[in-house]
Amino acid sequence: PARRQLSVDDYVSGVRAGDRATVARAITLVESRKAEHRALAQDMLVRLLPFAGAAHRVGITGVPGVGKSTFIEALGTHLTAKGHKVAVLAVDPTSGRTGGSILGDKTRMTALGQDSHAFIRPSPSAGTLGGVARATRESMVVVEAAGYDVVLVETVGVGQSEVTVAEMVDLFLVLMLPGAGDELQGIKKGILEIADLLVVNKADGDNRDRAMKAMREYKAALHIMQPADPHWNARVLACSALVKSGIDEVWGAVEEHRRTLEAAPVDGSNAFEAKRAGQQVRWMWAMVRDRLMAALESSPAVKAEAGALEAAVAAGETTPALAAERLLRAFGIGG
Ligand code: GDP
Repeated sequence: PARRQLSVDDYVSGVRAGDRATVARAITLVESRKAEHRALAQDMLVRLLPFAGAAHRVGITGVPGVGKSTFIEALGTHLTAKGHKVAVLAVDPTSGRTGGSILGDKTRMTALGQDSHAFIRPSPSAGTLGGVARATRESMVVVEAAGYDVVLVETVGVGQSEVTVAEMVDLFLVLMLPGAGDELQGIKKGILEIADLLVVNKADGDNRDRAMKAMREYKAALHIMQPADPHWNARVLACSALVKSGIDEVWGAVEEHRRTLEAAPVDGSNAFEAKRAGQQVRWMWAMVRDRLMAALESSPAVKAEAGALEAAVAAGETTPALAAERLLRAFGIGG
C-alpha cells in the first residue's frame, strides 16, 4: 500500500525529533534519483543543514575479512554504552550489481542493530561511486540533524571508494590484518597515504605476536612517508574486535586526532574546521564535474560525433586534442 507522501515540514520535524522511521524515509528520499525527489530532498537538506555538523565522522575501510563489521559492532556498542548516538552508513558501489554482502548490513551487526542508540543503514545501491557517495554525504546531514553524534562510514576498497570516503569524514581509519610483510606489499597502493589511523585487528590468541610485528612494520612504513595531514602523524594501533580489546584506545586516538586538529590554527579558524570547509568546497566542484560529464555524455550532438572521433583518435588519424575540441564544440563550448 502506498504510504502517505511526507511534506518537507514532516521530514524536517520527524528527523529533528529523532524519529527513526522518518530518518529512514528521509534517507530513502536523498537516495532517490527521480527529479521530483531530488528537489524535495534539497529543500529538506537546506533546512536540516543548520542542525548538522555536530557529529564526529569516521571512515572505516579494510579488505574483506579484516573484520570491518565485527569492529564497527564492537566500537559502536562501546560508544553507545558511553552515551553516544551512533549512525553507521556505508559506501559500496558494488552492492547493487553483485547482490553480494551489503555493507552496513544489520544482520552482520546484531547487537548494534538492536541498540536503540544506533542507526544502521546499508549502502545505497545507486550504481556509480559518485551517486552512492552523494547519497551517503546527504544521509550524513540527515542523521546528524537527527542527533547522532558519531557517524561511522564503512567502505570496501573498491576502485576509488576509500578516497571518496576519506573526503567526507574527519578521520579515516584503515583496518589491517596481522602478519605484515606480505600484507604490507599487497595492500592497496595509496591507502597508507590517506590513513589517519591504522589499526591492526585480530590481535588476539595466536595472532598477537604477528599483530605486534605488523604494527612495527606499518610504523616504519609510515615513518618514511609524507603525512596525509600536516597537522597529524598517522597512528598505528592494534585491537581485537572479537574479544573487544583495544577498542577504547582506538576511540581515544580518534578523539586525540580531533583535539589536535582543533588546536592547530588555520586561517582564523582551526585545522579541523578548515578540513571540513575544504571538503564541502571540493564536494561542490565534484558535483559540478559529475553533472557536466553527465550532460556531455547524454548530449545528442556529442553522441552523434563521438563514435567517429573515437575511431579517428584510435587510428591515429587525428590528435586527441583536436578531437576533444570537436566534441566540446558539439556540446557548445569553445569557438
Ligand atoms: P569484514 O568482511 O571486514 O566485514 O569482516 P567481518 O567482520 O565479517 O569478519 C571476518 C571474520 O573475521 C569473521 O569470521 C570474524 O569473526 C573474524 N574476526 C573479526 N574480527 C576479529 C578479531 O578481532 N579477532 C579474530 N580472531 N577474528 C576476528
